[in-house]
Amino acid sequence: MPTLAASVELKPCPLYINGQRVISRGPKDIQYNPATGEAVAEIPRTTPNEVSAAIEAAREAFPAWSKTPGIQRSKVLFKYRELLEAHAEELIALITEENGKTIEEARGSFQRGIENIEFACGVPTLMMGDNVDQVGTGVDGWSTRNPIGVCVGITPFNFPFMVPLWMFPMAIACGNTFVLKPSDKVPRTAVRLVELFYQAGLPAGVLNLVHGAKSTVDAMLTDARVKAVSFVGSSAVARYIYQTAANNGKRVQALGGAKNHSVVLPDADLKSTVAAVMGSGFGCAGERCLATSVVVAVGEAADPLVKELVRAADNLSVGAGCEAKTQMGPVITDEAKKRILSYIELGEKEGATLARDGRKDAVTRGEGYFVGPTIFDNVNPNSRIAKEEIFGPVLSVVRVKTLKEALEVIGNSEYGNAASIFTRSGGAAREFTQNVNAGMVGINVGVPAPVAFFSFTGWKNSFFGDLHALGKDSVHFYTEQRVVTCRWPD
Ligand code: NAD
Repeated sequence: MPTLAASVELKPCPLYINGQRVISRGPKDIQYNPATGEAVAEIPRTTPNEVSAAIEAAREAFPAWSKTPGIQRSKVLFKYRELLEAHAEELIALITEENGKTIEEARGSFQRGIENIEFACGVPTLMMGDNVDQVGTGVDGWSTRNPIGVCVGITPFNFPFMVPLWMFPMAIACGNTFVLKPSDKVPRTAVRLVELFYQAGLPAGVLNLVHGAKSTVDAMLTDARVKAVSFVGSSAVARYIYQTAANNGKRVQALGGAKNHSVVLPDADLKSTVAAVMGSGFGCAGERCLATSVVVAVGEAADPLVKELVRAADNLSVGAGCEAKTQMGPVITDEAKKRILSYIELGEKEGATLARDGRKDAVTRGEGYFVGPTIFDNVNPNSRIAKEEIFGPVLSVVRVKTLKEALEVIGNSEYGNAASIFTRSGGAAREFTQNVNAGMVGINVGVPAPVAFFSFTGWKNSFFGDLHALGKDSVHFYTEQRVVTCRWPD
């Protein structure tokens, strides 16, 4: 259970409006350390006036920032990258404290976050238009990419550093101004992200920060001054964001939840496959939108695979993310832990074989929000544990006879974020990549996360919108085109 000693004085988490640190007048929620259950900070629910002031600051900053040459904007981003690197250890420790992931996982997410800034530094080239002479006799045509105005970003708890960096560096590089609303469960990393951008020389009002949950988000979605909304979170909220923002005339990209599959063929290399599936299923305590949560074992791949997965899970060191020996940290909240434990009960009721029961691990019964690694075998592909996003360290093994059947299992999922295949056969890998109903595909890779210059291409209920985050799509999302057709008299 969360604890709050009477004597503890909690630090309030500030907003940033027009380059100024602001203490909100809104009601406060408490943030808990997931590894200990101790209260660590007060998180405000930003008031409507404060949200409006943040949007107004962004609106006022837009004319000057959008006219600043791309190469100058890019210089601020280069400096920002340097400052973040200089504060790497502090930020990595903060990510671990807020979210619970291990130091190594936090370090990995730090690096992947930085890559988005590096990509955005190339904005003068990324924003280049096209040019065609003589589209008609004596007539030339060209296109330019232009910033769109105030953009907002709403982010989830599982990557406090990386996911905000999917959004505002590119939006700002393209000449837009921004209001960030990080997850109310991990808002303090976002505070440092904003502070360091201002230290890098960002003009006042270009990046603003508000906190809270639904009421803060609703105020942003319905405000006429906001032109574009980027969202990452669960599918139910993503769908709501997409519909509400679109109804209010905004451009939207809303990335949702997932249920990802790893298909293992009998010819796969067992040792490296087990290592990849363990990393994908239990890395970040299963709280990753690219986590494998269903292993589809084809034919005789199943028996040795389940045996080795259970053995590896038995040896996984679970504990506080800040301890060097820890390989898997806690889940985010007490509520999340209860939801995950209820899915384990459900799996038993649905008749799956509980090959490893994480509830029996001592750590699951101690302080903090820990759930030991759990593996179900013989899972019915139509059962709820096989279809619903559990978002915790619970792996389901579905047994099928053929690759075709495996593709059908994946095709029947309502989600389409990622899928991987483990095999030595080029032909099977090709059949898989050509036919799998998912947007991000791995071949002998457990977490097929695209690097920053590719887009993050979830399908089906894992994405609502047209232009994805990251890569070229993000440049297109944060800009609109102008096409000029020109004739000069002789
Ligand atoms: P969430 O949907 O609960 O919250 C995401 C954001 O929306 C937070 O900032 C939260 O404050 C806000 N929010 C919550 N409820 C809201 C409501 N009713 N109206 C408006 N805003 C609301 O998600 P989470 O629990 O923080 O994150 C986990 C989810 O995010 C998982 O489903 C995971 O798969 C998904 N995710 C997806 C991707 C991806 O790239 N597709 C990446 C990371 C996480």
